[in-house]
Amino acid sequence: MDLTTQNIMYCKSVGSKRADVLRKELKVETALDLLQVYPYKYTDRSKFYKIADIESEDTSVQIIGEFLSWETIGVGRGQRLSATFTDGYSTIECVWFGGAIKYLQLSKGVRYLLFGKPSIFNHTYNFTHPEITPMSKVTAQMTQGFEPDYVTSEKMKAVGLNSKGIRVIMRELVLQLRQQGVPEIIGADVLERYHLMGRTEALCQIHFPTNNAMLQKARERLKFEELFYVQLRLIKQMKRSEATEGFKMPIVGKRFNYFYSECLPFDLTNAQKRVLHEIHSDLKSGHQMNRLLQGDVGSGKTVVALFAMLLAIDNGYQACLMAPTEILASQHYENIRRMLKDTPVQVALLTGSTTKVQRKPIHQGLQEGSIDILIGTHALIEDDVQFNNIGLCIIDEQHRFGVAQRSKLWGKNPNKPPHILVMTATPIPRTLAMTTYGDLKQSVIDELPPGRKPIHTIQYGLDRKQSLIHFLRDQIEQGRQAYIVYPIIKENEKLNLKDLENGYNEWVQTFPEYKISMLHGQMKSKDKDAQMQRFISGETQILVATTVIEVGVDVPNASVMVIVNAEKFGLSQLHQLRGRVGRGADQSYCLLLTRYDLSKDTRKRMDVMVETNNGFRIAEADLQLRGQGELEGTRQSGVPFDLKIASLVTDGQILLIARQAAEDILHKDPNLEDSFNEMYKRRLDVLRMTIVNWGDIS
Ligand code: ADP
Ligand code: MG
Repeated sequence: MDLTTQNIMYCKSVGSKRADVLRKELKVETALDLLQVYPYKYTDRSKFYKIADIESEDTSVQIIGEFLSWETIGVGRGQRLSATFTDGYSTIECVWFGGAIKYLQLSKGVRYLLFGKPSIFNHTYNFTHPEITPMSKVTAQMTQGFEPDYVTSEKMKAVGLNSKGIRVIMRELVLQLRQQGVPEIIGADVLERYHLMGRTEALCQIHFPTNNAMLQKARERLKFEELFYVQLRLIKQMKRSEATEGFKMPIVGKRFNYFYSECLPFDLTNAQKRVLHEIHSDLKSGHQMNRLLQGDVGSGKTVVALFAMLLAIDNGYQACLMAPTEILASQHYENIRRMLKDTPVQVALLTGSTTKVQRKPIHQGLQEGSIDILIGTHALIEDDVQFNNIGLCIIDEQHRFGVAQRSKLWGKNPNKPPHILVMTATPIPRTLAMTTYGDLKQSVIDELPPGRKPIHTIQYGLDRKQSLIHFLRDQIEQGRQAYIVYPIIKENEKLNLKDLENGYNEWVQTFPEYKISMLHGQMKSKDKDAQMQRFISGETQILVATTVIEVGVDVPNASVMVIVNAEKFGLSQLHQLRGRVGRGADQSYCLLLTRYDLSKDTRKRMDVMVETNNGFRIAEADLQLRGQGELEGTRQSGVPFDLKIASLVTDGQILLIARQAAEDILHKDPNLEDSFNEMYKRRLDVLRMTIVNWGDIS
């Protein structure tokens, strides 16, 4: 039977009961699916150790030797068997507990192959529950090459599918695979150009590698394949929108020029100019723009967005700007209105808390075309929001919006899809940008406006409260304002809210002479606005808040950011929060208040924050620290697909090559219509059908 269609039920050593479990636990249907469940590690069983060579607890080892003596210690459940094993040079203790003892038959003068993972006990290595096999029973197969280990689950183990059980099935499958092969899914030219192993060979080698070099070649090939198809899909999507007709906006008109020469209170940085130029080239190209704008916190994305909107308006279109929170939407609204001053550009704000009465004229203005710019939250993608002639949608986002939402924006103009500009709140690592936003063209603002003083970041023990109070008072006396942020973790919101409220009360008692605002996500938006407004106007000196202030909030006079329990925040969130200060002319400070007993990774996070203000570097460090585990299948990190073998943390190089390969193919044949590209097209269709998450990004 063909491996690509063969039901797992009919694989050797599987059967219907195990097949059910495999289907549920591993989401596999066919023999080929099962072959694509890759080992997570290998043990090199061609290698024999001496006891003296053991140097870590990480790798299993095998040793040939004899048992010198053994004794059973204790009774009942606490019973253990302790044996002394020698390789002729030194000795090591082996221990078995409980039921396992019954099955153990040790004989003196018999040579055994011992296999197990060393562990350290009382400052010396020993083995707990090693596998032991008399040498007379050791088969060649047992000590050949790399032995794969597979991830299993409790449910799988219950039907005998532990790592060893899966290994047995895989061995059979690989035999079948060697005979029958599977169809190749990467073109011969690509395989040759990048020196990649064939698919059948790679699948054999990934499970039972002949040697380390072959294993590496197999991994490389399978990682490439995985990333290649992700890229093929994304770039195809990108080409599709590039080919989609878009509104033509060639004119640099009155409003744009007036704003540039009369209203803009500063010169644009070179990076801002460059990015604006990139956007303008898209807007006048006649094709729909789908572009990502990345820039560090405070790099001035908003003004770029505003210029882009003015371009649209000068060409006779409306524009909208969608923000992730109400606070941010109102702030954008206020800022943009202030910047536009006396220009005749009409701006409206639409959020969840805009009342019915307020909505009516907005809806009308949008339909008639008297409103030029609409700023808002998700509320602006609702169906009843209709434009006269929307030409540009800008999304200022915190996390990636679903494509469903993006496509709603596409539909906001029945004539042609409006141009789309997505702005990220903080920089994202290169590999993530290439996958998560791989279907968008990229623009980067890699320069901060001149005159910014780097924020001084200090890590503070939570118990140094007196010194903190002293510092805060000193800053406030100099006329500055301070944020004090408390962590709020979703699952536990009530509890943490108490932290915030307690904290607030404490600060009120500590600083009776100052006024303090409080802000958190569970407040009514009217109250939020009022509290925020008091802080913006300088009426309050301190804002005690949760991370609702994270995104975009801009109060130039605030120069101190205190983050309580900083260890509870991720790096990008810390960077976001820190970015709330350092916006004015004064020296700004970020104080990370932490416990003392920090884990290694947490300490590293704090160190990175103290060492650098560069958001791009922080984003890379964040990815390295969080690692693939965090990313795998997690939507929250924005990766809309699962990677089985490739890693966005370590496989950046392969990703680049895979993207190039995909780009080369689509450059010549954007719709994959040529007959020699049919394989790719079919494969994309298969992936679309089988990988649920992929549907989201098409
Ligand atoms: P972000 O990229 O984080 O959204 P903003 O757009 O909020 O940054 O800009 C941060 C601050 O920098 C704003 O107060 C803005 O007016 C100011 N700014 C933007 N561009 C420049 C510039 N070229 N020179 C001086 N200040 C600028
Ligand atoms: Mg912003």
